[in-house]
Amino acid sequence: MSSLYIHIPFCTSKCPYCDFYSQVGSQPQIDEYVELLTLNIKILQDKTSSPRPFETIFFGGGTPSLLSTKQIEKILHSIHSSFGIETDAEITLEANPGTVNLEQLQGYRQAGINRLSLGIQSLKDKNLQLLGRIHSVSQAGKCIDAARSAGFDNLSLDLIFALPNQDLSALEEEIFALLNFHPEHISLYGLTFEEGTNFYTWLQSGTITPCSENLYADQYQLLHEKLRVAGFEHYEISNFSLPEKRCLHNQVYWQREGCLAIGAGAHSFVNNGWGERWHIPANLQSYNKSLLQGENPAELLETYDLTDAMKEFVYLALRTSDGIDPVKFEKRFNLSFRQVFSSELDEIAQYLISSPTSDRYSFNVKGWLLYDHLISHFL
Ligand code: SF4
Repeated sequence: MSSLYIHIPFCTSKCPYCDFYSQVGSQPQIDEYVELLTLNIKILQDKTSSPRPFETIFFGGGTPSLLSTKQIEKILHSIHSSFGIETDAEITLEANPGTVNLEQLQGYRQAGINRLSLGIQSLKDKNLQLLGRIHSVSQAGKCIDAARSAGFDNLSLDLIFALPNQDLSALEEEIFALLNFHPEHISLYGLTFEEGTNFYTWLQSGTITPCSENLYADQYQLLHEKLRVAGFEHYEISNFSLPEKRCLHNQVYWQREGCLAIGAGAHSFVNNGWGERWHIPANLQSYNKSLLQGENPAELLETYDLTDAMKEFVYLALRTSDGIDPVKFEKRFNLSFRQVFSSELDEIAQYLISSPTSDRYSFNVKGWLLYDHLISHFL
């Protein structure tokens, strides 16, 4: 796969739980940023040995749907001229339901966006207010209808669970409401309290109470079961899809394949040696300065040796239901997975799916619930 991530670091307002790199942006700032992205594409092309047409492109943020149809067209046109885009490429755009209308969605579809990821987050107005979202449940429904009318047949909906005061039955109602929209893909995230966010401050001061660990586990199990019954494959810790509707772009990350990236705050992975991670600093001023001087804004973060590459491969693969294929591991690292990690495998054995028909290693749902703890055996 050849893949590109594009970071759009602007939002209409900052949600109190969010620690992504994004800020409230003015229209002139957004317009200027689009110009910078086109410069970034050219510089990236110059720096890339044997550039190939992209098979997946992902506009993430922030709120990429703050960009107009013309701006998305301009960026895609620039990518097309510099690298090329495969005719059947998956091109995803993250959209905030409070920022789009039918005409804009039609424009995105015509520009080439063929997968929309909508930040629905909750189907209860009181939760949306708590999360500081700018949309209501009714706007979310209208946005999904508009996306379908605009011709999007690959819709991913995001939902946040483990919210304060959310019991199992309230979550179940939200799942049914979500399934009524017939999405092809669902991403589910348990609420976290990240340092630097308002939610973290409220947690420290006791103004907000997180859900208990037991309730978190029950909610995760409930989501797993209800979505499986509805025909979804739980193919990654936080992601569910109908058959053939997995997110191809995100699979590139989990398979530890190369992915280029542009935009302030974007991270890329290059398959040089055992791998290199690069990032573009999350700073609009330095991004602007580097590009206007014709310099590459990306900085090398990490160069992997064999041991770290193997550890990261395992760390990423165990997030997925495909898990670790020992044959693929051996092909990639020229070492036997079972020999390298034999003691670690013993430690986590009870959380692995054992199947007489497959020799892959993947976590069961209990293993995913304890992922942070279990994966530490490998790191
Ligand atoms: S819209 Fe998304 S990226 Fe923007 S502040 Fe809210 S959660 Fe963060």
